[in-house]
Amino acid sequence: MAELQPLRKPGFATRAIHHAYDAYAGEGALNPPIYLSSTYTFPTVEDGSARFAGEQAGYVYSRVGNPTTALLEQRIADLENGEAALVTASGMGATTSLMWTLLQPGDEVIADKTLYGCTFGFFNHGLAKFGVKITHVDMTEPATLERAISGATKVVFFESPANPNMRLIDIAAISAIAHRYGAKVVVDNTYCTPYLQRPIELGADYVVHSATKYLGGHGDLIAGAIVGPKESLDQVRFYGIKDMTGAVLSSQDAFLILRGLKTLSLRMHRHCENAQGIAEFLAAEAKVEIVHFPGLTTFPQLELARRQMKLPGGMVAFELKGGIEAGRRFMNALQLITRAVSLGDAESLAQHPASMTHSFYTPEERAAHMISEGLVRISAGLEDLEDLLIDVDQALQAT
Ligand code: PLP
Repeated sequence: MAELQPLRKPGFATRAIHHAYDAYAGEGALNPPIYLSSTYTFPTVEDGSARFAGEQAGYVYSRVGNPTTALLEQRIADLENGEAALVTASGMGATTSLMWTLLQPGDEVIADKTLYGCTFGFFNHGLAKFGVKITHVDMTEPATLERAISGATKVVFFESPANPNMRLIDIAAISAIAHRYGAKVVVDNTYCTPYLQRPIELGADYVVHSATKYLGGHGDLIAGAIVGPKESLDQVRFYGIKDMTGAVLSSQDAFLILRGLKTLSLRMHRHCENAQGIAEFLAAEAKVEIVHFPGLTTFPQLELARRQMKLPGGMVAFELKGGIEAGRRFMNALQLITRAVSLGDAESLAQHPASMTHSFYTPEERAAHMISEGLVRISAGLEDLEDLLIDVDQALQAT
């Protein structure tokens, strides 16, 4: 991108559209090309050898790098204000590739009590099988981390807001404690996107994303990203991805995410407005026990929400009076809001974590990890708020 003014860094929306791509270069295409090539040519065997040794710039094989995915990596790193990024075939591919690279048998991971179900599964059924100790603490209280952490703790991992119950974690406070013990802090920033929250600016070492969600934004792909220090991400690229998970993003999906990023800031405003409207509506309803949404004045961590997030986000969780049965009736009565897992799409989506995303937890684990059986989660889409409220209202009446 041509520099607008020598000393001024362009704004978020401008960088989400232009960063790292020169539309005048090459063929002058406004949009970047999709490089559909699994392998790359070497003019001579000596060039091939130099490229493998990292002594000559250039691509070797698309499991290690591709010009379209490389552009997306530069753009995501810039938006998260990190040194480098690595895109992956899924959000789980991001977390697993990073963890397999950072950890060894005997190390400990301390994670928050609430995690996306498959992340919980990977930690407790995957990493634990290979000699990594997993400890869960309630990180909404940083003192509980202080009591649990030791020199064996290599990674501190959490989401904020946590999926699905919307508990917030103070990224700066947790990072300060973790760093005193030499542990690395990994934040899953899927719910917020860098438009609403930038964990690295608050002290985290790495950010992971399910780019399947808001970054892609249209529910048409599965992808992930890791942001962090360049040297460390080189290790993830050359070991974690190349040798261990093989979780490589296709260049076509990278292009779709580049397209999605162009409207990220616009979409996030609409998602947040719709979520605010739904949360306020639900909070005023007698049939609703509690609404978990960082934009309500009754939200217990309102001060942290305002300090850490630009806007309260597009996700609303709530519990109906009548528990699991009322939750199921509500779900089945929805007509516009679609019953589906995932989030961050143009379509509003509703899901019941105990039956869907968090069915990997046992009922006891769900209770211990603060996911109530009747919790319903709505990902507010981009539709007209009035239509969404009519649907929520009629579904409530059916409970
Ligand atoms: N992290 C969070 C917070 C998620 O909600 C999800 C998926 O729902 C993931 C990670 C995993 O991402 P993916 O489905 O792209 O592998």
